Amino acid sequence: MRGRPVLGFLAVAVVLAAVPWVQDALGVPVFYLVFLAGAMFWVAQATSWNILSGYSGYFSFGQAAFFGVGAYTTAVLMGRQKLDFFVTLPVAAVLAGGLALLVGWLAFRLRSLRGEIFALLTLAIPFIVAPIIRITPWIDGGQGVQVPVPAAARLVGGFQPFLYLVSAAIALLAVGVAYAIQHSRMGWGLFAIRDAEPVAEGLGVPTFRLKMLAIAATGAIGGLAGCVFALQVGFLTVEGVFGLTVPLFVIVMSVLGGRYHWLGPTLGAVVIFTLQNRLAAGGFEGLSLIVLGMVLVALVLLAPEGLMARIAVRPLAVIAASIATFAALAISSAWGTPLDWLAVAMVAGAAVSFLPVPRRRIAREVTRLMDDEPTVAAGEGDPGMAGLAPSGQASSGPIIEASDVARTFGGIQALRGVTLRVAEGELVGLVGPNGSGKTTLVNLVSGAYRPSAGTLRIAGSDVAGIPPHRVSHLGVARTYQIPRPFESMTVRDNVALAIMFGRAPLPLAAARRAALEHLDLVGLGHLAGARPSGINLHERQLLEMARALATRPRVLLLDEALAGLSPVEVDAAVRVVRRIHASGVTIVLVEHLLRVVNQLATRVVVLDQGRVLAQGAPGEVMRDPSVVAAYLGSAAADVAAGTPGANAEGLAAGA
Ligand code: ADP
Ligand code: MG
Repeated sequence: MRGRPVLGFLAVAVVLAAVPWVQDALGVPVFYLVFLAGAMFWVAQATSWNILSGYSGYFSFGQAAFFGVGAYTTAVLMGRQKLDFFVTLPVAAVLAGGLALLVGWLAFRLRSLRGEIFALLTLAIPFIVAPIIRITPWIDGGQGVQVPVPAAARLVGGFQPFLYLVSAAIALLAVGVAYAIQHSRMGWGLFAIRDAEPVAEGLGVPTFRLKMLAIAATGAIGGLAGCVFALQVGFLTVEGVFGLTVPLFVIVMSVLGGRYHWLGPTLGAVVIFTLQNRLAAGGFEGLSLIVLGMVLVALVLLAPEGLMARIAVRPLAVIAASIATFAALAISSAWGTPLDWLAVAMVAGAAVSFLPVPRRRIAREVTRLMDDEPTVAAGEGDPGMAGLAPSGQASSGPIIEASDVARTFGGIQALRGVTLRVAEGELVGLVGPNGSGKTTLVNLVSGAYRPSAGTLRIAGSDVAGIPPHRVSHLGVARTYQIPRPFESMTVRDNVALAIMFGRAPLPLAAARRAALEHLDLVGLGHLAGARPSGINLHERQLLEMARALATRPRVLLLDEALAGLSPVEVDAAVRVVRRIHASGVTIVLVEHLLRVVNQLATRVVVLDQGRVLAQGAPGEVMRDPSVVAAYLGSAAADVAAGTPGANAEGLAAGA
């Protein structure tokens, strides 16, 4: 299995390398070589953009900066320093990759920028880089830079074959890197970041490192493709390099093809480039931006998931429509050149693929395409022994040790002076009225938030300053009050991801097999192939538990995992919690239903207004007058708000 993709890439490389010689022998005009070189340039650009922006969802408008740095590196080193073209390639990759890392550091470390704010930052980068290049005399100086023909062009029969071969090599490199990333742990980490970044971080995904790797790959490959661009145009100007054309084209190409798949940008690049090339050749250059804009509008409104998934829904119809259109135009030969026919055939194929399809089928294809042919050989790792018991070395000290912990949000004191210990093997019920700070405590213990004061130790380590993914590796896992699954992955892969980045990581194929054990434990085995959007709330809550367990935690924080369930479902969930506890995992159970807490907990901690009001054995604590007062107050408030809480009932059962 593992050899196949490599062989595939080698075969494509041989075919691409053969093109110039075949073209010569068959007497095909050199124009086709120029066309192919152009297509290859865009394949490399779009694919490089997609590694960061498609896989991780961090939309970047900064492609022109990476590409421009690459182009100017080649131009300056060849044109002014008289260095060989091949020397400029690694320099360009390092400089553009370095710029990308700087942008990444600013965006991801200095501030945690997301969404539009990240896009805005990247938009600003070319605006800063361009004038620096323009006013620096030894780079551009406002006069442009002449790029000579590389010496090596003689060896392959001329400038055009040389340009084509270098473009093809860089495109192949880009696609190869995109393929390798998609099929690696890194790719799955990036997908998880795109779906729900804080959740991924909490499950042990080193999000900062993965984002930096992705942006570095985007920058370096974008820079390499820029080197070819410098050769192609022969004379660089700041205006010609730093416009909005490159960033807009790469976005439209990737979105059109499909951002979740390594081949998507290639497909989009070929279609858009062919269309644009034909419009320009027909004298409609001015139209090409209009067409591009309209394609983007249509995509955003009608088909945000792009062509790949839609073609996968009805491949035969799309291929038939394309071939029939091409054949009809070729046979009648009333109009145009073969490239014109190709462009029209592509439009016909795309039109067929955009005919209405049920959303669910497209979503299913997206999921299927994302995990095509796992490269991990069967039998790797040791899935059979994944086991459900925590892998942690039993230590005598408490697992959670909070001393005088406080947390404020602006003026709000969510927690004040909480001192609390949870020992290995306990099942602690954490109760308290709404707003008493339960979720805040879960967020602190899992590392998502930092304490404003006090110290918090997990398994003996102070968590101040430790990122959540490392807290996860210390042995803390949590679920969310409102389930937050990775929506683009199947139920099984949600769990497999947690295993891949957990405390006993396994490679993809082994993680997928081990995931089934965790799903069975919570009773979701039969839904392994479903998508999270297709299962009900109860099942989503159970998925939260299975995914948290898959990291092999020492302590599991369940934040109202039973909220909103029917009585039958509550009973089922109670059995699951018991089973998890019996397997050796310490549990902190945040729960509204006191009946459930009384059944399960070995100890109850009551929070009220950010303080520990009482703690001890369930029966005793519930009789504590201050607890009764706090609860009756809250029950009265619940009734007033029209949501009669179960508190009174639970209190009665506990008393
Ligand atoms: P519980 O889970 O017990 O219902 P929370 O821990 O969610 O309570 O909230 C405790 C208090 O802290 C509430 O007043 C809530 O509004 C506030 N709070 C919690 N998280 C934040 C936040 N991220 N920003 C501002 N206020 C918050
Ligand atoms: Mg809460």
